[in-house]
Amino acid sequence: MRIEIDREACISVASCVAVAPNTFELDDQGIAIIKNPTGDDEKIILQAAQSCPVNAIIIFDDAGNQIHPPKK
Ligand code: SF4
Repeated sequence: MRIEIDREACISVASCVAVAPNTFELDDQGIAIIKNPTGDDEKIILQAAQSCPVNAIIIFDDAGNQIHPPKK
């Protein structure tokens, strides 16, 4: 699984940090960063991505397919 953060889209809600505190944190600009890509269970990381109101967290599976947000 691979995680990307669209830092331009992030609006500093920090729900990702609340859901997966061992994976995400906010930097000194209040924008989410990946602190440890394997910090939490993959299910938790996916939930964190789903909790982001602006879909700023993009998750890919090991084959490189985008899992979240769902492609339209
Ligand atoms: S939930 Fe989304 S908008 Fe909020 S801090 Fe995390 S990445 Fe940024």
